[in-house]
Amino acid sequence: MRITKHSLAGNTPYSTPYYVVESKRPGPVVMITAGVHGNEVGSILAAKKLIEQLQNHEVSIRSGTLVLVPVVNQQAYRKRIRGKPDLNRTFPTKAGGTAAHPLSQALLRLAKRYKPSWVFDLHEANGYSNVNKRVLGQSLLTHKQSQAMRAVQQVKRHLNRSIEGRTRKFTIIKRHKQGSFRTAAAKLLRCRAVTVETSWEMPLTTRIQYQRRIVACFMRKAGIQITE
Ligand SMILES: [Zn+2]
Repeated sequence: MRITKHSLAGNTPYSTPYYVVESKRPGPVVMITAGVHGNEVGSILAAKKLIEQLQNHEVSIRSGTLVLVPVVNQQAYRKRIRGKPDLNRTFPTKAGGTAAHPLSQALLRLAKRYKPSWVFDLHEANGYSNVNKRVLGQSLLTHKQSQAMRAVQQVKRHLNRSIEGRTRKFTIIKRHKQGSFRTAAAKLLRCRAVTVETSWEMPLTTRIQYQRRIVACFMRKAGIQITE
């Protein structure tokens, strides 16, 4: 396994590290992003922990390539704010369209270069979607007819089996969100794209654990499996 560190939007004030983890065995390319919103700390810390463990050889990937951007919006993360403008509304909505922010431009360029078959964008949100349809906390988002749907359903079932009570159980929300990284990745790059949303209502350590479990489940489905 080889890990290289690079810089996204390197020549701009938004410069942020990304990592390319290559297994010796061929396999699919998976892209994981966190920190598109700077205040969604559980997802960011889960992504940071994953790269740290890969670097320390505590875990490895079994095959393929992982492209990981642990904190997309560093400026927003430093202030623990969502980010202004909302980065997840600045991705192009149709082919030939341009991203409206240096970071979304750089992220899309990175995805175009590596052509991931899977994109997982890690987020956090309010509430519990299983008890309130208007909130996104504890949900997996993709769109109708998404090629990721089967894996999303399997991961949801797997997760929910171990969650007591109905409140914290995950739901699947099917829709495009124009301007989001997930929708741009699905529509423009034909990736299997999923947004993961844990709930802010839970303690930070619990949210990090959920994020880590979900990422591990999806990576197994994607065929690049994290091993210890
Ligand atoms: Zn978010």
